[in-house]
Amino acid sequence: MRTLIPQINRRTFVTGSMATAAGALMVTGIDTRPALAKSTLSGQAPGYYRFNIGKFKCASLSDGTLTLPAEFLARNMPKEKLEEFLKQNYLPLTENISQTNLTLIDTGEKLVLFDVGSGENFQESAGKLPALLETMGIEPEAIDAVVITHAHPDHVWGLIDEFEEAPRYPNAQYYINATEFDFWNSSDILTKLPERIHSFALGAQRNLKPLAEKMTFIKPGQEFMPGFQALDTAGHTPGHLSYLVSSEKETLLVTGDSMTHFVISLQHPDWQPLTDFDGDLAVKNRKKLMDLAATDRLRVIGYHLPFPGVGHIGKKDGAYRWIPDGWNWEL
Ligand SMILES: [Zn+2]
Repeated sequence: MRTLIPQINRRTFVTGSMATAAGALMVTGIDTRPALAKSTLSGQAPGYYRFNIGKFKCASLSDGTLTLPAEFLARNMPKEKLEEFLKQNYLPLTENISQTNLTLIDTGEKLVLFDVGSGENFQESAGKLPALLETMGIEPEAIDAVVITHAHPDHVWGLIDEFEEAPRYPNAQYYINATEFDFWNSSDILTKLPERIHSFALGAQRNLKPLAEKMTFIKPGQEFMPGFQALDTAGHTPGHLSYLVSSEKETLLVTGDSMTHFVISLQHPDWQPLTDFDGDLAVKNRKKLMDLAATDRLRVIGYHLPFPGVGHIGKKDGAYRWIPDGWNWEL
């Protein structure tokens, strides 16, 4: 059985941090204290979080962060009501800083990546996946399958390389809902979208079209690989899919963007983010998905939830809440 996701434990983590600090000291030489502070305590380092689902080895990988206006969080709510809620929850009133958590699964036979992040051409704070894979010792050629939730920039603009020519994961088979592929590649796509996101369509075409030959088109409900099943969560985009990944009686729900905020999507699933294409349909499928997760006590990974975005969804008196994983370095 191949194990391409490195094991991490407290010892290697501590040793690694110390090695980095020591390296910084050596490189900068004379004035060590400011250099140490600059090299280790500025910015955030993208990371990964390891967990298991049955015999599948899994990881949440950070592609970095996105910054969007806070008002995008609920287009169907008065500004004052949204602001009051944000204030109550210690959230910024002007910006929504959103994590981007990719899912990597090593089944023992295949290395499967859900979505590929933003690449270099969306926001500078995102597109960290290639560097992260390198630090993990995973070659892009080792990825056997790329499974796409939907074709927004932060999920697919990393499909082709920075020169926008070659596939970044040359040996992968690609899986996407046919509805999603057709929507973004339709000749009249620009008439269906507001002008502010016309670049989304052009970017989706730039990234999806060169891979058309390698695409397997899947349908909601379909088990397209052993243990991997697609779920209909249309609304955020017309062909948005979430996924159930099962091994030995354990199941992971990969939600994609069915939920986009760890407080609002759960406590107010009716609030419609501006980024949902069909707001009403997204609400319906968001509630259905969270009900499934709560009823079956599924492990969940949320793309835009606070890193690593792995945990459970609780339901009580019609309201949902996010219960993050406890850390377990021994996995
Ligand atoms: Zn997204």
